[in-house]
Amino acid sequence: MKLRWIAFALLCALLTVGAISFNSASLQPKKKKILVVSHTAGFRHSSIPTGEKTLTEIAEKSGQFTVEFCRTAEDVKAMLTPEYLNANGFDGVFFNNTTGNLGIPDLKAFLKWIESGKAFMGAHAATDTYKTSDLGGDRSFVEMIGGEFRTHGAQCEVDAIVDDPKHPATQHFGSSYKVFDEIYILNHSSRDRVRVLLSLDKYPNDKSPSAGQPGDHLLSWCKMYGKGKVFYTALGHREDVWESEPYRQHLLGGIRWALGLAKGDATPGNRQPARP
Ligand SMILES: [Zn+2]
Repeated sequence: MKLRWIAFALLCALLTVGAISFNSASLQPKKKKILVVSHTAGFRHSSIPTGEKTLTEIAEKSGQFTVEFCRTAEDVKAMLTPEYLNANGFDGVFFNNTTGNLGIPDLKAFLKWIESGKAFMGAHAATDTYKTSDLGGDRSFVEMIGGEFRTHGAQCEVDAIVDDPKHPATQHFGSSYKVFDEIYILNHSSRDRVRVLLSLDKYPNDKSPSAGQPGDHLLSWCKMYGKGKVFYTALGHREDVWESEPYRQHLLGGIRWALGLAKGDATPGNRQPARP
C-alpha cells in the first residue's frame, strides 16, 4: 500500500515537472527573422561586410531575432518574393547599403508584402536604391522608404539633433549624436510623412558650397507603411560607424521597433526640438 502511494506521488511529481517544462518551452517567444540584403547594382560600399558582421552580432546579443543573408543578383531573384519570404518565416528585411535596381522579380508584390505588416529597415545607401530615376519616374519604393539620396560632400563630423528622444532607436543618445561619416542630403524626405528621429539644422560642413547654411536635413526616421513598419538611418557609410556602440544601439532600437519588439511613436510631423 505504502509503495503504491510512493509510486503515485512520484508519478504526480513527474507529470508536474513535465507540465512546467512544457509550459516554459511554449512560453518562450519565437525569435523574429530578418533577411539582410546587400546586393548592389550601383556603387558598392566597402563597409557592407562590416554591416553584416554588426547585424549578426547585435542579433545574437539581443537574443530576439536572427539574420540570414541575400547577397547576389541570383539571391535577390530567388529570395525577395512574398512566396519565399513567407515560406521561410521572415518578419522583415534590412537593406544594408544596397544600390540601384536590385532586380526584385516583382517590386510591387514585394512592397505589398511589407505593407501587409512586415518590417523594412535600411541603412545609408538603402535610399540610393530604386530611386525614381531607376524606375522611370515611379516613386513607389521612395514612398515606402521615405526619401531618396541626392548628394553628399566630403566626410565630416555632424552633431545630429535627436528629434524623438523617447524612441528605442534614439533614446540612448540624449539630445544629440556626434558622428563622423559621409552625410547624405536627400530628396523627397518630408517631416509630414515620417516621424523624424535624427536631423541637422544646417547643411553639413562637407566642403560643398552649401556647407554650414541653415536648413532642415533628415538623417533618420521611422514610419508606417500600411500595417508595415519602416526604419531608416542615413548614417552607415564608414566601417568605424558600424562598429561604434552608439550606432549599434541606434540600429538595435530601430530594428526592435520595426519588428514590434519595442514600442515607439511613428506619428509623422514632429518638429525639430530647439537646441538646449
Ligand atoms: Zn556612402
